Amino acid sequence: MQTRDLSEHAVYRAGEGSEEVARELGLDPDDLVKLSSNENPLGPSPAAMTAIREAASEVHVYPKSAHTDLVAAIADQWELTPSQVWLANGGDGALDYLSRALLDPGAAVLVPEPGFAYYGMSARYHHGRVRSYSLRAEEGFTQSADAVLDVYDGERIVYLTSPHNPTGTVVDLADVERIAEETNEDTLVVVDEAYGEFAETPSAVRLVEGREGWDAREDVAVLRTFSKAYGLAGLRLGYAVVPEPWAGAYARVNTPFAASTVACRAGLAALDDREHVERTVESAVWAREYLESELDTKTHESEGNFVLAKVSDATAVAEAAQRRGVIVRDCTSFGLPECVRVSCGTREETERAVSVLNEVLAG
Ligand SMILES: *Cc1c(COP(=O)(O)O)cnc(C)c1O
Repeated sequence: MQTRDLSEHAVYRAGEGSEEVARELGLDPDDLVKLSSNENPLGPSPAAMTAIREAASEVHVYPKSAHTDLVAAIADQWELTPSQVWLANGGDGALDYLSRALLDPGAAVLVPEPGFAYYGMSARYHHGRVRSYSLRAEEGFTQSADAVLDVYDGERIVYLTSPHNPTGTVVDLADVERIAEETNEDTLVVVDEAYGEFAETPSAVRLVEGREGWDAREDVAVLRTFSKAYGLAGLRLGYAVVPEPWAGAYARVNTPFAASTVACRAGLAALDDREHVERTVESAVWAREYLESELDTKTHESEGNFVLAKVSDATAVAEAAQRRGVIVRDCTSFGLPECVRVSCGTREETERAVSVLNEVLAG
């Protein structure tokens, strides 16, 4: 027998973990600096770690109350109705729920190029098609409503990433509004704010809810995750914020018990630990400024916890840095063979990454 035709599906290859790289290089994993996945260099919130230990005795039952409690806390934080919070197994899981809820077979989505691969992957899993709009290096990867509207052709979902991965640029809420306004009534604009905590730009939840002078919209949704600023990437926890009129669709599309008891309890504790998030953001702001000023190459101003740097041959530079114990992201797979993305590390990690990259660039 055979699977269905999957030839259009990209194979997802997660970046190697520190342990694999260390084994290949014959190094101690502790001597490696891994700045390739935009993870939190300060680790998880200590409160979340305590919650994880305490949740251990609860894992023989399904995560009914843990799920309800976390959704209530997130809804409270954003002043939403709990049904508007589509909790999922990572932000990626929430993208799947949006695909399930919106895409009829053959429907298309419009995604940024370069951009986050999972938008297109999720659409294809759900029998959808993928079109793209370009962010141009010559224009500093600025994101404008025109770049999207010029190629828009009735797609069911338009993806915006703010701050954008891997470039670090943001989308103004006025542009989000214009895109939502000028696309069809049944086109959903999803604003992916996986790195929202690191940016000054306010959340597009204002457009979903009609706050601060914005009109409330039924065609804007927002994606958030616990993987980045909250430091819980390993637990897989994220959510979409959707407009109330169709929020009830979650019950028809979600995988039962979308997030685990351990993830929900940790997420709840992490939400309460404002101090950890503040320290994380402070540390990322320091690191991205350091990377921007100290790397001996052109960098793009970033509002995320990473910086995109221009090098001539990203694969060669990433490999050379890795041999010296510093792992950065080769952006060739994003369609940027001349760029590496460097995540914000601790002070020590970031300084080491800069010194190794500058050595490689000089060589
Ligand atoms: C990391 C990331 C996500 C979500 O990742 P999860 O770990 O699945 O929550 C979503 N969008 C972008 C652009 C990201 O970089």
